Amino acid sequence: MAVFDSPDFDEHEQVLFVNDRPAGLRAIIAIHNTNLGPSLGGCRMWPYATEAEALRDVLRLSRGMTYKAAMVGVELGGGKSVIIADAHKDKRPELLHAMGRWIDSLGGRYITGEDIGTNPLDMAEIRKETKFVSCLRKQDGGYGDPAPMTALGVYQAIDAGVERAFATTSLKGVRVAVQGVGNVGARLCALLAEAGAELTVCDIFADNLERVVERHGAASVAPDEIFALEADVFAPCAMGAVLNDETIPQLKAKVIAGAANNQLAGERHGQMLAERGIVYLPDYVANGGGLISCAAEWYRHDPAEVEKNVMRIRETCVEILEYAERNAVPSHEAADRLAEQRFRP
Ligand code: NAD
Repeated sequence: MAVFDSPDFDEHEQVLFVNDRPAGLRAIIAIHNTNLGPSLGGCRMWPYATEAEALRDVLRLSRGMTYKAAMVGVELGGGKSVIIADAHKDKRPELLHAMGRWIDSLGGRYITGEDIGTNPLDMAEIRKETKFVSCLRKQDGGYGDPAPMTALGVYQAIDAGVERAFATTSLKGVRVAVQGVGNVGARLCALLAEAGAELTVCDIFADNLERVVERHGAASVAPDEIFALEADVFAPCAMGAVLNDETIPQLKAKVIAGAANNQLAGERHGQMLAERGIVYLPDYVANGGGLISCAAEWYRHDPAEVEKNVMRIRETCVEILEYAERNAVPSHEAADRLAEQRFRP
């Protein structure tokens, strides 16, 4: 299997394959780039069907963290880890402790946090073996759930996109379709409702949906109806790859900004959005508020500064859109190029 020359490898600095027999742990820790600081990225626990699938996922995710950190202006690099296991069946304290020891063996080049399949309690377990953990609960010495800051960042991105598309600085009466009203989506709805936006939401989990409908007077639609809705803004806050061949032709929204990671199914879908005149705020910038919070926790910066820094996501979005226009490239490519200018020497 060619690794160094595979497209996903993309100049990773270091990749650690962990086979800890006594603990029954199989994991991969990927460090993409540490030019701006130690790498930080969550620890995902997922029952990957193949090792190749796990490797591809961790490489892609750690690379993404480098770009995100560079664009939201934190002194961190990009890294990520995956534990090849089923979070519902295989999670045991010994497994997490072993993971903590392997993270510790990297001497701080990689800092972990929660991700799909892991939660703050798991981070507290990993913390017993290594100090290289961030995004902890307040009772564990952290700055708490990053979701409110993620939502605030997405709000800033929407605001910048609306100004670009509709030449208005107010969100009053702007029709926003939110896909997924969980931790981030529900908080985003609260901010949008306060600004006078008209909300339509969908979710596959009825409790989450009803809460937002009741609290903010949002309308609701079935999950498959959200794309074709008569809306000004589409905010994907559920899962990745939602901007694809099937959904893009349905979209009526002129602005897309949301919390979900990897919203574009492929690079060419960013191009498709640009060709349709849709203002796309790149996902890793729009959802970078959580990372700003985790970075502040790691460096013990004043928590009061976090919100101010998250508000700067708006300026960063404007910078990306201006760069895209000047250089006639889609916005996702503009963001990548600007990020590379920051983290490459
Ligand atoms: P969450 O699990 O709390 O919420 C996701 C919501 O989406 C849930 O209510 C779920 O029922 C719903 N959902 C799932 N599939 C759906 C579908 N097909 N249609 C409609 N709704 C669907 O997660 P979250 O913390 O709110 O994160 C949302 C997204 O943002 C995720 O992709 C996450 O990776 C990303 N993200 C989150 C943060 C953060 O700080 N929490 C930071 C960066 C990125």
